[in-house]
Amino acid sequence: MPLYDPHNRLIDYLRISVTDRCNLSCFYCKPRTGMKMLSHSEILSYEEILRLVALAVPLGISRVRVTGGEPLVRRGIVDFITSLHTIAGLQDISITTNGVLLEEMAEGLIRAGKLRLNISLDSLDRHKFHKITGSDEYDRVWRGINRAEELGFSPLKINMVPIRGMNDAEVADFARLTLDRRFHVRFIEYMPIGADHRWQRDECVPSDEIRAIIEREVGPLKPFLSGNSAGPSDNFQLRDARGVIGFISPITRHFCESCRRLRLTSDGKIRPCLLSDTEIDVKSPMRSGCDDAELERLFRLALEIKPDRHYINEAGHGCFQRTMSRIGG
Ligand code: SAM
Repeated sequence: MPLYDPHNRLIDYLRISVTDRCNLSCFYCKPRTGMKMLSHSEILSYEEILRLVALAVPLGISRVRVTGGEPLVRRGIVDFITSLHTIAGLQDISITTNGVLLEEMAEGLIRAGKLRLNISLDSLDRHKFHKITGSDEYDRVWRGINRAEELGFSPLKINMVPIRGMNDAEVADFARLTLDRRFHVRFIEYMPIGADHRWQRDECVPSDEIRAIIEREVGPLKPFLSGNSAGPSDNFQLRDARGVIGFISPITRHFCESCRRLRLTSDGKIRPCLLSDTEIDVKSPMRSGCDDAELERLFRLALEIKPDRHYINEAGHGCFQRTMSRIGG
């Protein structure tokens, strides 16, 4: 049964943060002073998540993305993905990872069942990578990407967030990656959410600007249309390229009118919109023994309060002091 919100949007996609922990400390994501981590009992167990997904699928959810924090650091993640595959009606399972643990885990993940893989990588320069993430795992991430490609994960999506003055000089190099390899390189506009109120509007490099740089420095881009146009990415291709270049523009071309997602936070809240703070608690009712009918009611309530759009472009809007890891980036 298709599921619609009050703004007549089809909702079929759930992003699940399975942990707030991460093995990188990206400066725009983690607060400088450190983060108060959730305790083990505060985060949803895999059984609780599976119960929710099994309930959401007959309501209309057909795609889930597993994210975090860093999903691969949570013990038992491969078995969890295997269990997701047993939920009848779930058509698409994907995971977003920073790639640090991919080299050793890619094989298990591919055995768990069909899985789409997105890897976040903000720099192709080892030193810059260190500056952004606070870690020197650059080579390890690349070994993970190569291993995943070798094992047949396809398409491999590489997500980059260009931040002015930090890594925006690298967008042409990222685009060039698509010439020889089948990667989908996607540029995601830097959003006002994260650590230390540090986001500044002019640090967000608009997609149109990135596109102009690529066309000037690498070559013309032609629209790339694929069968699966459900995502928010505007896709293009360089001449003779093997891969695809995508632009995701939550700031300059917000796609709220076609947003199909809900989020499940690692501490058990359904969050209808990343860029609004309203959430519905499902963990407490589950732990007090509520039945599936009550969970379904809460799930539908989250849908009812999904805002028509985000308001971050309104005058005076600052940065959400929230950690993406709990919410699920
Ligand atoms: N650890 C996993 C990873 O690195 O892919 C999953 C979680 S991470 C929070 C998911 C994505 O959110 C990363 O690609 C990260 O760059 C992105 N992200 C975090 N803060 C962001 C922001 N303020 N604007 C845009 N993207 C952001």
